[in-house]
Amino acid sequence: MLYADIIIEISTERLDRTFQYKIPEALKDEVSLGSLVSVPFGRSDKVITGYVVNLTTKPEFDPQKTKEILEIKDDNRSRPVGRLLVLAEWMKHHYGGTLIQSLKVVLPKKTPVKPVENHIVRLKATEEELRVHIEEFDRRHQVARLRLIRALAETGTMDKRLITQKLGVGGPVIKSLCEKGLIEVETQTSYRNPLAGGARDNAEALKGRKVSELTTDQKRVVDSILSRYDAGDRKPSLIHGVTGSGKTEVYIDMIEGIVKRGHQAIMLIPEISLTYQTVIRFTARFGERVSFIHSKLSTGERYDQFLRAERGEIDVMIGPRSALFTPFPGLGMIVMDEEHETSYKSEQMPKYHARETAEKLAELSGAAFVMGSATPSVEAYRRARTGRYELYEMPERIAGGELPVVYTVDLRKELAEGNKGILSKKLSALMEDRLSHGEQIMLFLNRRGYSSFVTCRKCGFVYKCPHCDVSLSLHSDKKLHCHYCGYTTPMRGLCPECGSKYIGGMRAGTEQVERLVREAFPEASTIRMDNDTTRKKGDYERILSAFANEEADILIGTQMIVKGHDFPKVTLMGILAADMSLFSGDYRSSERTFELLTQAAGRAGRSSSVGAGGRRLLGEVVIQTYSPENYAVVAAAHQDYAGFYEEEIAYRNIGSYPPLGHMLQITVEDKDEKRAALTAAKTGETARSFSDQRQRASERSGAKPAPMQVIGPADAAISKINDIYRKVIYVKSEDYELLAGLKDVIEADRMGRQDFSGRIEFDFDP
Ligand code: ADP
Ligand code: ZN
Ligand code: ZN
Repeated sequence: MLYADIIIEISTERLDRTFQYKIPEALKDEVSLGSLVSVPFGRSDKVITGYVVNLTTKPEFDPQKTKEILEIKDDNRSRPVGRLLVLAEWMKHHYGGTLIQSLKVVLPKKTPVKPVENHIVRLKATEEELRVHIEEFDRRHQVARLRLIRALAETGTMDKRLITQKLGVGGPVIKSLCEKGLIEVETQTSYRNPLAGGARDNAEALKGRKVSELTTDQKRVVDSILSRYDAGDRKPSLIHGVTGSGKTEVYIDMIEGIVKRGHQAIMLIPEISLTYQTVIRFTARFGERVSFIHSKLSTGERYDQFLRAERGEIDVMIGPRSALFTPFPGLGMIVMDEEHETSYKSEQMPKYHARETAEKLAELSGAAFVMGSATPSVEAYRRARTGRYELYEMPERIAGGELPVVYTVDLRKELAEGNKGILSKKLSALMEDRLSHGEQIMLFLNRRGYSSFVTCRKCGFVYKCPHCDVSLSLHSDKKLHCHYCGYTTPMRGLCPECGSKYIGGMRAGTEQVERLVREAFPEASTIRMDNDTTRKKGDYERILSAFANEEADILIGTQMIVKGHDFPKVTLMGILAADMSLFSGDYRSSERTFELLTQAAGRAGRSSSVGAGGRRLLGEVVIQTYSPENYAVVAAAHQDYAGFYEEEIAYRNIGSYPPLGHMLQITVEDKDEKRAALTAAKTGETARSFSDQRQRASERSGAKPAPMQVIGPADAAISKINDIYRKVIYVKSEDYELLAGLKDVIEADRMGRQDFSGRIEFDFDP
């Protein structure tokens, strides 16, 4: 017997669960995941519809009492929705949280906003009719009717709003003329176009300006992926191509191929700061049949774009991770640019990763999935190396764009030579040079949210956890804490390594950097891009286009400035403190640093053009650091991805960190500190006894043992937010399903307890 778990189509707000039905013999071959079906529901067996989100042979209840599916009601509209609901069920299982939380993510149009409606009034009457009626209205002194009919006689059609506002003619008059058959009102729905005026003009200017022929490398990738698509090979693809190797052009060409085959594509990009440039390049190729969404669009604007997709009015949707849930009727490809970006992971429950979710959605839709990056995540690259993904290498920049020259400056030496400032001598000298030639500079401060590691500015010493091999963080209790296992050690005033007093936290903001740069170079103009200067809609675009138009000599900013922007006049990139991300206290910190440094270096000298006085615009990069020997820094300076990967995988292997195993982070939050600690301790116990049970069970059955390692509880990296205390527990295992099983046990446990006031959140492979 086969059973189907069904999401019922009524007020899902109240029903946070699926319902199980039997699949009758006659429907066996037709019911599939995502099918829209009708079923009897409740005591009265009222017939309602629902979507099948899971198929199983295991009955949930007494099979005798389980009701049967009545019929299948699939149509073109229901299929994309059905797929998204299956995806929601998968997300709930894979990432935790409630079904409603997952449904809200995949069906974001819960509160639909009506598209803007325009009413066009059109004259229908013949000339003869007109003459008769004008006479009649005149005779009866029906001036409003007269005014309207005369105006329409001249123009033929008019916007209803204009009629009421300019002619002062109201709805009842229009209605009565309609009834007489003299005029008709046509309702046109128009969608808000999120592409702002300036961008639209730019796209228009670019239109038809296809770049010259694809290079051999580009063509090889496009041809291979499309021919694999035609052959039905749906293994995901990873394009590892250095910055400037022409990946975006590859995406556009592949998608064009998919569209020619009658399918649609989703183009994922990591951050709203990237949207502008990408959208312009896509609009130039696809015209009106491309749209985009991002988090700063209004609900109405976003809803409109999804509606356009559903109705087949567009072929390409560009956007951040939420663009995945575009209800395309025939999705053919998902492309994920800058695959390694952290913004692809949701920070709210369910904490889904767009990479895994896209792979699942592609599988459900029969679509191809293609990722691209200059610095693939260790996860993705390992899958490519082990054959789960198809790997494509694009090692060369498009002709002329040479890789920049990178200098690593040892800040310990600068200190020894008496320079306590934020700019090293090398960087200052190069800045001087660029400014005198009228070229542009970018200064990058990689502050990653919260970093409070302690370092010695004299010898580069960093406090690390002896158990977890990650850097320790300084807390307000003056102790150094490990965010994984909770290990603490007191902070001393002198460096344990060299005895110097230059040991302490590193705290400098972009604002401070801007002030110091202005002091050092009073004649240069600066512009700053960080969280503070990009709060409003349109801020990104304003700053980027100001810098592109050379309204400033120096752009100072956080990681926002290093991603994907192409400024031909930038010939110098200064990375002020590479260490800030190197010691952020988690197992990904080296990976993040390598990425940021490589991407930042890729920003300089992207162009082969020639500057003032015939000077060739070559790129130079200065990396300032206290750890010049660190492998992430060394590999980034040489743009050596493979070298970095080998070292990093070895490090992950020692600690059993992902991707060489999986890791579940359980965060317990509570207003009451004691209760938070208690819940965390209990959750830790649950995890440990779950682990023991599984261990014994696999021993009994003679299967491979299923080791799980439970670490903590400890204070979270941010141990208190808005007066809510936060504790974390980490569980490691090679088997993802084992961790998902533990998550289910903890969730069921919490549901059963009325007194539980706090919150428990799950984050897989954090
Ligand atoms: P990536 O996405 O890998 O960083 P892009 O696609 O942005 O690279 O390409 C880098 C630059 O090279 C862009 O200015 C782009 O217009 C240009 N370009 C890409 N492909 C070609 C080509 N086949 N011929 C000439 N220029 C190209
Ligand atoms: Zn020291
Ligand atoms: Zn530790």
